Amino acid sequence: MDVRDATLCLKSLGEDGIDFTSLTVPVNRASTIVFPTVEEYQKRRQAIYDGYSYGLYGTPTSRALEHRIALIEGAARTLVLPSGFAAITLTTLACVQTGQRVLFPDSTYDTVRPFAEQFLAGLGICSSYYDPMIGAGIADLLEEDVALVWVESPGSMTLEVQDVPAIVQATHKRGIKVAADNTWATPLRFKPLAHQVDFSVYAISKYLGGHSDVVMGSISMSDPALYRRLKDFSRYMGYGVSADESSLVLRGIETLAIRLDRCEQTALRLARWVAEQSPVVEVRYPALPTNPGHYIWKRDFSGGTGLFSIFLAPWARPFLAEAVESLELFAIGASWGGTRSVVAVLDRPPVRTATVLAHEGPIIRLSIGLEDAEDLHADLARAFALLKRRHDEEVADDRAVQATSL
Ligand SMILES: *Cc1c(COP(=O)(O)O)cnc(C)c1O
Repeated sequence: MDVRDATLCLKSLGEDGIDFTSLTVPVNRASTIVFPTVEEYQKRRQAIYDGYSYGLYGTPTSRALEHRIALIEGAARTLVLPSGFAAITLTTLACVQTGQRVLFPDSTYDTVRPFAEQFLAGLGICSSYYDPMIGAGIADLLEEDVALVWVESPGSMTLEVQDVPAIVQATHKRGIKVAADNTWATPLRFKPLAHQVDFSVYAISKYLGGHSDVVMGSISMSDPALYRRLKDFSRYMGYGVSADESSLVLRGIETLAIRLDRCEQTALRLARWVAEQSPVVEVRYPALPTNPGHYIWKRDFSGGTGLFSIFLAPWARPFLAEAVESLELFAIGASWGGTRSVVAVLDRPPVRTATVLAHEGPIIRLSIGLEDAEDLHADLARAFALLKRRHDEEVADDRAVQATSL
């Protein structure tokens, strides 16, 4: 029909079926999704699992991202969510009911503890923490009420590598599900589903996104029925992701393998060097033989990534801020897995309730980026020299004070 200008500004251009192909996945922005017939519109609810019904439940761009992650994971289905933490909470809420219990490793991502104490507890869901190195010993903790066991290997900040196959075996024997936060390893270094883990969870915000500009999470599963249950829960929680951000992650994943290789190479070299520096008590990096569970890492993982932690002697504490702020190539921040190097500073050791972390000093965590390894080494060497100089000055001052008081 003939229409006026105001309508010409809006009328559908009928670009469907346009003869154009590029190498990239198009960005399909949508809230409303339209249907050719009333009948298809009426059936739209059934499309939330596989098709398209409303922008919140999926667009071709977000589905392409889910498909891509499922391919790398060897998963039947993957569900993307607005954050890594949303993936953790959704998995937990979909598996554990009032009166039941969830187990977390003592080395768990730090927001888990307040979530458990202030949110799950309010729903009548109990949580317990276990020694991340427990392995098959998890069997002793699997009381009647346990409905889900989380693993995070290696653990946040302290990087203990868990015996995931042993934990899965013991847990499945009791018919209990296992979820893995596999953010550190990415599906290129460890494949939880290949070890029969039920849910493989990522903070896509880290290596998969890979450029420090997207917050997103994912859950991958071998069982399509579990996918449907999680997709339903995701709908009840109102979770969805944007096509624009999905497209950024699709781009990030294209370089994941090459980024990880580079990060791993530089990280291994720097971790070995850092371990020899004077205020350093211990370096936590799964590829180092001293790391808890190193032999498990060698057995189960195909490589390392770029994140490691440094346990410092308590004497470093007063000078640490100055040394960290003197770094020119490491930005101070909490997140990681991007192209630029980042340093996180923990003034107190992380909370432990099931085990004892025998370390009193401060901890710093480095996320190694794609900068030249020599430059990163020089930057760190300057900062460690500064720490040592400040310490030596203090010792000299103390001696001078003692000398004058004698
Ligand atoms: C960052 C992170 C999360 C949370 O992911 P967000 O996308 O920031 O919500 C969960 N687990 C681990 C191990 C993480 O590093």
